[in-house]
Amino acid sequence: MSAISFWEKDSFFAPQDIIIAGSGIVGLWSAFHLKLINPQYKITILERGIIPTGASTRNAGFACFGSPGELVADAATMGEDAMWQLVEMRYKGLQQLRKNFTDYAIDYDACGGYECFSADSTDWKEVAEKLDWLNTGLQKITGEENLFKLADDKLHAFGFKGFTHLVQNKLEAGIHSGKTVQALLQKIQGMGVQVLTNMTVLSYENHHQGVRVNISAGIDGRQISFTTNQLLLCTNAFTKQLLPETDIIPNRGQVLVTAPIEQLPFKGTFHFDQGYYYFRNVGNRLLLGGARNKDFENEHTLEMQTTPVIQAALESFIQQHLLPDTTYAVTDSWSGIMAMGREKSPLIQSIGNNVFCCVRMSGMGIALAPEAAQKIAVLMNG
Ligand SMILES: Cc1cc2nc3c(=O)[nH]c(=O)nc-3n(C[C@H](O)[C@H](O)[C@H](O)COP(=O)(O)OP(=O)(O)OC[C@H]3O[C@@H](n4cnc5c(N)ncnc54)[C@H](O)[C@@H]3O)c2cc1C
Repeated sequence: MSAISFWEKDSFFAPQDIIIAGSGIVGLWSAFHLKLINPQYKITILERGIIPTGASTRNAGFACFGSPGELVADAATMGEDAMWQLVEMRYKGLQQLRKNFTDYAIDYDACGGYECFSADSTDWKEVAEKLDWLNTGLQKITGEENLFKLADDKLHAFGFKGFTHLVQNKLEAGIHSGKTVQALLQKIQGMGVQVLTNMTVLSYENHHQGVRVNISAGIDGRQISFTTNQLLLCTNAFTKQLLPETDIIPNRGQVLVTAPIEQLPFKGTFHFDQGYYYFRNVGNRLLLGGARNKDFENEHTLEMQTTPVIQAALESFIQQHLLPDTTYAVTDSWSGIMAMGREKSPLIQSIGNNVFCCVRMSGMGIALAPEAAQKIAVLMNG
């Protein structure tokens, strides 16, 4: 294994102001906000994969800030104030996304979103009773009147079977997750951030005034260390490998996409069963994800695979509810790993000695990441 050259030591591997572990959307947005605060910061992002390899390029691309069923459930478990704070953070995050990228760059599709309810949905009655209350709270955040609207009249045209109610959110949208990460990468590289891939952060320790970060790099697993004034962990579900005590539970999400379907009868982003199922159109293809409640235990994993149990549950959902009379073919299926915890709010904090973390986006990172990143950047700038 060759030693690092004099030139490499003085350029690629030179001491940094800030090292960020993880180049998912949280790591990228964090670099963006840190550079906005101080354009002189020398920042390097270290990513273990050849591209981001967690959730950010493997999600469903819902630009969402909470379906009615989820908000009612969250108000009950986290308390109303915490629920509204989280909604506001997500909504502001989506505004940041819109402000910094053209619709074309990220395939932003203002298609509107829906939550579907079936006759078995135990939460429907409470959701129906609380729609006005939700709309009043949401108006304060979005400025939009009657954001959630009953849309049962669309059930027939959409061709769904077994759903009895539909609630529309006109501000929900779809994006292209891959293009969004590419656009973010281009933006921060243009701001002077160095992104090195195939670099796994193995450990870190305090070093003089800062932190020494130990890396396994490249195909030969070469051991390299960086010195940096501050280290920020944006390693989401994988954070437990570095910080075993963190309240993070990995949750795998599995997704499939069909071949184009002639005259796909619905368009939009859809939620069902308190978010356990989510589907949308991508052009005239169907993207469907979720069903992790069919095999909870095995889906608490960092292994990025698909399984017959979940894929079969997804296909059965298509046949039962979405395309009962249509022949379709699945062309793609994959999985990604989300980070959840006993609490739903993200962990945005100092973990002592110039080390920080911004993790646990609980399955809604597209909206949360820009604001979470802004908060950690302000905290790090102290
Ligand atoms: C199937 C699925 C569907 C989803 N759908 C949506 C959706 O529609 N809308 C939405 O808002 N959210 C959705 N999410 C959640 C969203 O994708 C995440 O909240 C978000 O991507 C989290 O971003 P992150 O940067 O924190 O994590 P990640 O994208 O997981 O990034 C963490 C990065 O850290 C890297 N890393 C880990 N350990 C190390 C190490 N030791 N050294 C160096 N690098 C390391 C990983 O390779 C990874 O690239 C979904 C998630 C999944 C899995």
